[in-house]
Amino acid sequence: MNCRVCKQRAAVEVRRHHAAFCPDHFIEHVQRQVARTIHDYRMFGSEDRLLLGVSGGKDSLALWDILTELGYEVDGAYLHLGIGGYSADSLALAEGFAANRNLRLSIIDLPVDYGFSIPEAAATQGRSACSVCGLSKRYLLNEAATGYDVLVMGHNLDDEAATLLGNVLKWNTEYLGRQAPVLPAVEGLARKVKPLIRVAERETAAYAVLRGIEYEVEECPLVAGNKVNRLKERLNVLEEQSSGIKQQFLFGFLDRGAQHFGVGEKPELGSCRSCGRPTTGDVCAFCRVRARATAPPEERDS
Ligand code: SF4
Ligand code: ZN
Ligand code: ZN
Repeated sequence: MNCRVCKQRAAVEVRRHHAAFCPDHFIEHVQRQVARTIHDYRMFGSEDRLLLGVSGGKDSLALWDILTELGYEVDGAYLHLGIGGYSADSLALAEGFAANRNLRLSIIDLPVDYGFSIPEAAATQGRSACSVCGLSKRYLLNEAATGYDVLVMGHNLDDEAATLLGNVLKWNTEYLGRQAPVLPAVEGLARKVKPLIRVAERETAAYAVLRGIEYEVEECPLVAGNKVNRLKERLNVLEEQSSGIKQQFLFGFLDRGAQHFGVGEKPELGSCRSCGRPTTGDVCAFCRVRARATAPPEERDS
């Protein structure tokens, strides 16, 4: 198979685009997909202050590289979740990436700054580690983005299609209403954007390899309970049989379904009684998790 652009030998095939590319033109293709997404959804401009959530994995580091190559200035925020060697390794990779390119990376340390780790919290909550982790990441990144215009997230096509499938299977209309490539800024929360939604997971991995990016290849040891991952596996089977189905599912929803669920509308938010951050309830989910995770066992069980 030959590269669509230069007709040299191809290195990466993108079946849903009926195309294959040599390394240089694949890199260009991915960067163009991201530039187009930023433009089409009016995500941000060069005047905006951007903060990227960095996990040390392929998606966030590839996106940091792409945005820098596109000429944007982007700071990174790494969340140390206290997940043993996995957190230590991914922190080292994120720090190495930032240092090599002279980029600013801030580190938010859940155990040191907030007094608990994800495994500790999961053990005290009666809910899965991934659900505690997900809500903690959202809270900490929103907080880290104070003073920035835009919080940039590295969710790729596979992540978004699997999340959409999970929400559709349960008709979780509230979450469907928030599944947008851009969530507008509201009082106390920066605009949130997902520029990687046109790039599939295997493509971000190929991009990272071709760009010589060292990223965390090990999976999180708590991944067994991750429902989104299981849905991704199901979607991969469908994609194998019907190339492009993930993209059609996600972009069909964004183009024709999303407006029925209030996507883009601003939620009504009050202030958390404990931390003062925006929330729909009285005390935010993160403060409730934190209170239970850091309480002495006798108080926790009452
Ligand atoms: Fe967090 Fe679950 Fe992902 Fe591990 S697999 S980083 S616990 S969401
Ligand atoms: Zn080429
Ligand atoms: Zn709170």
